[in-house]
Amino acid sequence: MGKIIDGKAMSTLVKDEVRAEVEAIRAAGGRIPCLCVIIVGENPASQVYVRNKVKAAAYTGIESRLIELPADTTEETLLGHIRALNADPAVDGVLVQLPLPEQIDQEKVLDAIDPAKDVDGFHPSNVAGLWIGKDCTVPCTPAGILRLIDSTGVALKGKQAVVVGRSNIVGKPVAKLLLDRHATVTIAHSRTADLGAVTRQADVLVVAAGRAGLVTGDMVKPGAVVIDVGMNRNADGKLCGDVDFASAEPVAAWITPVPGGVGPMTIAMLMQNTLRCYRRRAGR
Ligand code: NAD
Repeated sequence: MGKIIDGKAMSTLVKDEVRAEVEAIRAAGGRIPCLCVIIVGENPASQVYVRNKVKAAAYTGIESRLIELPADTTEETLLGHIRALNADPAVDGVLVQLPLPEQIDQEKVLDAIDPAKDVDGFHPSNVAGLWIGKDCTVPCTPAGILRLIDSTGVALKGKQAVVVGRSNIVGKPVAKLLLDRHATVTIAHSRTADLGAVTRQADVLVVAAGRAGLVTGDMVKPGAVVIDVGMNRNADGKLCGDVDFASAEPVAAWITPVPGGVGPMTIAMLMQNTLRCYRRRAGR
């Protein structure tokens, strides 16, 4: 039977670490770290994510500012907000909630955020930094996944790791982080010929495909660590992952549930990234 990796408990631990650091800054009379979140339009899922980010900031003591813009906001208006926040010395983190309405070029927007305030780690200079091994901001979900794997006590060095999915925000960066820990990494994707044959090699399996139930128990190596990044809605509207939990859990040694696995970690790591940007900007 797989042991459950409790992402909710782990995320509380990370947020408490951040909270203690913010408290120490406050006690020393320092400026409080500040995260600014911009949301454009009324995508209901985005609104939930943004609310949770603001809530997590309040929990940790990080100051947050929320800029809500209408769906018909022009690219130039949004870029104007980003420029103002880049120039504001009191702001440490700038996050633009994705996706953006179609009149706005997402790439241009991400490029416009000051890399020193890029708490999502999506700016090209942070992406490059990750791949060439420079000290940089690591995207929140991949960073959270590594923290969850570490919480199992399973060492990655020399292990076979398989990542299903090759997106810029999850698949590719998590593969690089696993590589940095000396795992032998395979990236599988939608054109992989025999997915099960690949995933069955994995001592550590990270699934980020956005396909409900894509990985079933027979595709999991006995004793594997299974991290399910997927967030899908099933026919009843219930949140579910990419891994069929019922069949995978008896095979795995460790497994994340959905909800309560990777999701809460993403937000906790955002708080950690905000604090990190603050410290770097403050030269501490
Ligand atoms: P994406 O759509 O950008 O990429 C999906 C990847 O999966 C692609 O590279 C594709 O090649 C691969 N894929 C699709 N179908 C496949 C198949 N049948 N077999 C093998 N590979 C397949 O998605 P993303 O942004 O990386 O997100 C992936 C999932 O993770 C989504 O469900 C998303 O909601 C979720 N997610 C969760 C969090 C979190 O905090 N929990 C954060 C980001 C993404």
